[in-house]
Amino acid sequence: MKAWISIDMEGISGIVDREQLLPQERLYQASRAFMLGDLLKVMEGLRNRGVQTVTVNDAHDGMLNLPWDQLPPDIRVILGANKPGSMVQGARGADFALLVGYHAMAGTTAAIMDHTYSGEIRRVRLNGVAVGETGINAAMIGEWGVPVILVTGDRAVGEEAQALLPWVKTAVVKDAASRRSGVLLSREEAGSVIRQAVEDAVDAFLAGQARPWQVPSPVSLEVELMTTDMVDRALYCPYMERVDGFTVRQTFPSMAEAFRGFYTVMVLASGRPLY
Ligand SMILES: [Zn+2]
Repeated sequence: MKAWISIDMEGISGIVDREQLLPQERLYQASRAFMLGDLLKVMEGLRNRGVQTVTVNDAHDGMLNLPWDQLPPDIRVILGANKPGSMVQGARGADFALLVGYHAMAGTTAAIMDHTYSGEIRRVRLNGVAVGETGINAAMIGEWGVPVILVTGDRAVGEEAQALLPWVKTAVVKDAASRRSGVLLSREEAGSVIRQAVEDAVDAFLAGQARPWQVPSPVSLEVELMTTDMVDRALYCPYMERVDGFTVRQTFPSMAEAFRGFYTVMVLASGRPLY
């Protein structure tokens, strides 16, 4: 069995705030160790179920967060930015996918560091269904026939994942009290919750319960941005149409193309307006 992992940082055990999430911030180095800790627990669960081939894609910010020199010998790691698949780079050909350290979509109440790919994105819809990173990435992976079997993070992302992908197992390691605070499981308890959820997820996969999330083609993409300025810039993307002050829309022949459309809008929109 070939497992593929996408690892983000906001949903990692022990993380609640921005100061833990960016390389120039005070608490960032400790967060890399927390990230490795969760990953090692995922690996333990996979090994306990006989999974031998594991690839992990670093999917947070500049995608250079995992400490390469401390990874176990039997894992392949994908590091670095501008990957064509971004957060889902390398998932094609895997038997199943695990989304580790994920967070809820932008606009979720009481969800640690809720957002969708960037600070400019307010809401994303695929064929009318509101999605965050879990949904966008599950749809990309799903087009390659790969099911998402596990999501780890706070309670909000767990609920978001189960509403969209009813077969998915979740490891809830924290409960948000606000966007930047929460009640956390201890390191030990979080670790055993993660290991157990991985084992349950592989069991469910082997029992035939997991399915790739395939968004029917053509894929209609709707993106709401935070300001009208951002929409003005997003319209430099060919074929993108304005729906209203905050929203752009276009229909694409496949999810892969819709993702490129989404990413283009996001890049064009980046940067806050001056006033
Ligand atoms: Zn992230």
